[in-house]
Amino acid sequence: MKTILIAGGAGFIGINLCKRFLNEGNRIICVDNFYTSNKRNLEIFSSENFKLIEHDIITPFDIDEDIDEIYNLASPTSPFTYQSNPLQTIKTNVHGVFNLLDLAVKYDAKFLQSSTSEVYGEPLEHPQKESYWGNVNPNGIRSCYDESKRCAESICLNYHREYGINLKIARIFNTYGPYMDILDGRVVTNFIIQALKGEDITIYGEGLQTRSFCYIDDLLDGLIKLMDTGNEFTGPVNLGNTIEFTISDLANKILEKIDSNSKIIYLPQAQDDPTQRKPDISLAKEKLSWQPKVMLDEGLDNTIPYYRDLINSL
Ligand code: NAD
Ligand code: UDP
Repeated sequence: MKTILIAGGAGFIGINLCKRFLNEGNRIICVDNFYTSNKRNLEIFSSENFKLIEHDIITPFDIDEDIDEIYNLASPTSPFTYQSNPLQTIKTNVHGVFNLLDLAVKYDAKFLQSSTSEVYGEPLEHPQKESYWGNVNPNGIRSCYDESKRCAESICLNYHREYGINLKIARIFNTYGPYMDILDGRVVTNFIIQALKGEDITIYGEGLQTRSFCYIDDLLDGLIKLMDTGNEFTGPVNLGNTIEFTISDLANKILEKIDSNSKIIYLPQAQDDPTQRKPDISLAKEKLSWQPKVMLDEGLDNTIPYYRDLINSL
């Protein structure tokens, strides 16, 4: 049994990770300020192995027990949430990361930082390899997230160099599945909810921009395999699905699956919205023996019933 601190444990990836670890008999300390999540999600955890610390990681804190591993998932993640309070986003990914790394040093815990494909910005290399330095607008409206996540990678790697912490950096590409907040605003959740409610499907721009969508269970496998690698491997390593879809493809697929009467409407393109994104996962295959198994059709078939039940229960 391991004791695992999950910062941002009440969010989309966090809830799924907590569930996985609790089912395997581990102890979880979840640290979250519910900035982009809902306490209701935690009601599924009645286990005495689950402890919640309601706290904003921007402020230093301590825990009164030994921990083996820290997963840092705490950050506003959808463009809607990170742009609604840019300075809070930057502080979370800078001050918050310092505070969690200090705990890793104190308790000699392994540390996994959830970085993002956004570090590649509007990529001029396609697909994106970890060696690509990216093409980020440093002062646009997405920069509060992109640049603070890039800074977080630097902070983590400097803790590794200076204090020798056992560090892992995952660059996560668009991931979807159950437990993403209904108001989150990311595309898969938005389109499913709109289609279920018979509301207009909102495409920003012409819908020709692409993303590669990874199902949550695949991502969890990748994160856990990464955490289990030896001290010599820090990453960054890309984790994502390699099958690329346009946003129009995604909208049509969801409409068809839900057999919805919703119509597609086209709204103005989001500022600095990357036009294409797809990971090169050779490094994950080599170092983690990992690749996604769940393709978009199957992943959507698993996700749609979750949101149907959720909407019916509200
Ligand atoms: P999410 O918004 O659903 O969850 C984030 C959680 O962090 C929420 O519970 C939120 O309340 C909490 N949080 C935010 N700021 C905090 C703070 N200052 N103190 C304490 N808790 C705080 O997002 P997610 O999709 O679960 O993403 C988790 C992590 O993975 C994020 O760091 C994100 O950058 C990274 N990531 C996710 C994706 C994806 O597709 N899901 C892609 C790239 C990177
Ligand atoms: N998008 C859209 N309609 C929505 C939500 C998102 O057309 O209701 C588009 C968005 O402009 C982007 C893509 O879908 O091109 C993925 O957006 P998301 O917010 O899920 O994640 P991102 O990859 O931009 O961080």
